[in-house]
Amino acid sequence: MNRIRINSTEGKSLLILGGKMDDILPLIPVKGLFIITDTNVMKIYGSSFPPGEVFVIEPGEKSKTLQVVEDLCRQMLDAGADRASFVLGIGGGVVCDVAGLVASVYMRGVRHAFVSTTLLSQVDASIGGKTGVNLGDYKNTIGTFRQPEFVLCDHNMLDTLPDEEFRSGMGELLKHGAIRDRNLFFDISAAADRLFARDPLLLGDFIRRAVKIKAEVVRRDPKEKGLRRILNFGHTFGHVIETHYKIPHGMAVAQGMIIAAGLSVWKGEMPHPELRLLEVTLEKTGMLTAYPLPAGVTGMVARDKKSQSGSVNFVLLRSVGKAIVRSISVTELQAFVNYYTGK
Ligand code: ADP
Ligand code: ZN
Repeated sequence: MNRIRINSTEGKSLLILGGKMDDILPLIPVKGLFIITDTNVMKIYGSSFPPGEVFVIEPGEKSKTLQVVEDLCRQMLDAGADRASFVLGIGGGVVCDVAGLVASVYMRGVRHAFVSTTLLSQVDASIGGKTGVNLGDYKNTIGTFRQPEFVLCDHNMLDTLPDEEFRSGMGELLKHGAIRDRNLFFDISAAADRLFARDPLLLGDFIRRAVKIKAEVVRRDPKEKGLRRILNFGHTFGHVIETHYKIPHGMAVAQGMIIAAGLSVWKGEMPHPELRLLEVTLEKTGMLTAYPLPAGVTGMVARDKKSQSGSVNFVLLRSVGKAIVRSISVTELQAFVNYYTGK
């Protein structure tokens, strides 16, 4: 088991990597525990949950709405939750995003933590204190920053994850390598077969390497004023593709990484062979789906939360393993999209 502490100006968080459910017992209250999970996780792991009131939401992105947050707050109120209560989200990214938001608004905020059950949330979503729900098609438009007290990642739980969800997590794992650790990126690809076979030791090793990157970035910039933006690599175009084609997040991010890398070359920030290397490696790892950029993509990007008065803060690469942030005007972005889509 590996413990990583994130101490930032926005609060402290303990990441317990490779732990078991029992490891959190000393960290949660005996009374006043409110568990938020989804129906799938409940079915598989409900019997090992710690004692507490359990609220179950529908699995998937459709649960990321303010209505679900309100319903959960009402259920908490009816069950007698007060300011001293503790919210424990047990599930993937959706459960963590929703439970985190509930915990940050219920009675102006109660304590909370996560047991992270998907690869995507173990390497990404559950770490860093972002909570949020969607507003129609606009992802994570309503949310807060609030660090969970701890995040337990039991890698054995990834055994029951459907293949598609696992592949989605691989996208975020690779992203961490692409932005900050060239060796990690190529090591993941080289070990892909054993990772897809869910070798828990190997998974633990790679998750630890990715989480260390994320933890360091969050520690230095908890509220995404600068450096933390690099974690959004692949996400600007990725979100558009994900929403339009309804494909898993990490697959869309992989596709988005290629487009952002194309933009990096177009802007003269990265040599072309690096783009090829990124592309070939993602392809070999089985991460690429060739979805064309949907029409109207620039407008969607401009309305994305990363856009500020006519320009977009875009994450580009200098090379595989080194991300930078550049402000790009919407006009320039449109020119790139025209070039990219061959218009
Ligand atoms: P993420 O955003 O982390 O990909 P979600 O919260 O949308 O994840 O979860 C993806 C899907 O996997 C959901 O249907 C969820 O119920 C299911 N799921 C989560 N954890 C597990 C697990 N350990 N085993 C099997 N299914 C899981
Ligand atoms: Zn993501």
